[in-house]
Amino acid sequence: MRPVVVAANWKMNTTPGDAGELARTIAARTVVEGPVERVICPPFVCLAAVGDALRGTGVAVGAQDVHHELSGAYTGAISAPMLAGLASWVIVGHSERRRDARETDELIGRKLHRAAEAGLRPIVCVGEQLAEREAGRADRVVRDQVAGILAAFAADPTALATSRLVVAYEPVWAIGTGRNARGSDASAMAETIRDAIAAAGWPALAPAVPVLYGGSVTAANIGEFLAEPAIDGALVGGASLKPDEMAGIVARAGLTASARVGTGG
Ligand code: PEP
Repeated sequence: MRPVVVAANWKMNTTPGDAGELARTIAARTVVEGPVERVICPPFVCLAAVGDALRGTGVAVGAQDVHHELSGAYTGAISAPMLAGLASWVIVGHSERRRDARETDELIGRKLHRAAEAGLRPIVCVGEQLAEREAGRADRVVRDQVAGILAAFAADPTALATSRLVVAYEPVWAIGTGRNARGSDASAMAETIRDAIAAAGWPALAPAVPVLYGGSVTAANIGEFLAEPAIDGALVGGASLKPDEMAGIVARAGLTASARVGTGG
């Protein structure tokens, strides 16, 4: 059975001075009955403060990115070994990094490999642009992203199989825009993603990979996505800075998680 995961991507928000308090508040407001894995991904400089604040709460800490090399002349960059003790999860390949840092599938694959080697649980983001969806190419684009990223594991397939991979389907046109995919479209894409993982050479892993939906998720719309058995949670951006929103999102996720435990599915 796949876990239900709610991950908060705080992006370039909060400071070491205020992040701990926000994390503590969210942790306290998101205690639910169902087995929901909660993760908060603050900026790098806030990881220590958030880690301190979350100790003993059951909420995990994640980084928002990781470099594809272990060390060297990469000014401003953070490598996987540097995150030891600070983060147990990491977001890789967010569309804002594809956009701003020109990250390619090949580079994202190398980052994913570094995360897996370091034992960081990866959330890998994929998703199409609006023009690609309107042209009927969304499925092809996401399949190609998955194949391009997983090519980094061709010589080391076990590293992916043991990475506890999570994929976030994030249609680019829905991120930070207030627009959402339809639950049924997100569900179809989750199956496409698992199909692409199987086709890339990991048929046994594919059905076990949690697929999250991301794109303007709020407490008001999360239900549409979690009603889909193929969707296992959410990667939440803007709403993840608001404790009321996180409380509503995780409460709904808790109902889903309890129901899935009850039905064994
Ligand atoms: C994200 O940052 O991954 C995201 C989905 O952002 P938002 O929820 O603000 O659309």
